Amino acid sequence: METIRILLERCTDCGCCIEVCPSDALAREGGAVILAHPEDCGGCGQCELICPEDAIEVSFSIVWDNEPTREQGEG
Ligand code: SF4
Ligand code: SF4
Repeated sequence: METIRILLERCTDCGCCIEVCPSDALAREGGAVILAHPEDCGGCGQCELICPEDAIEVSFSIVWDNEPTREQGEG
């Protein structure tokens, strides 16, 4: 599961992240960028890469499914 952190004090509102986002998940609101549609974010990290101010951090947390698969359970 991805988490997007936008450091508003660094954001210059250049709009690069909004343009590069393939999911249209980011938007401007009140002079700042927000993750307007978190359900659409695929966690690609392009916004973090393109931001010239290092204002975006994309992080991931892995949720382990410990249920054995059919293949693991056999043999
Ligand atoms: S690319 Fe960075 S500086 Fe530009 S609008 Fe997005 S968060 Fe702000
Ligand atoms: S991680 Fe990718 S999909 Fe999510 S907001 Fe950034 S550019 Fe858009």
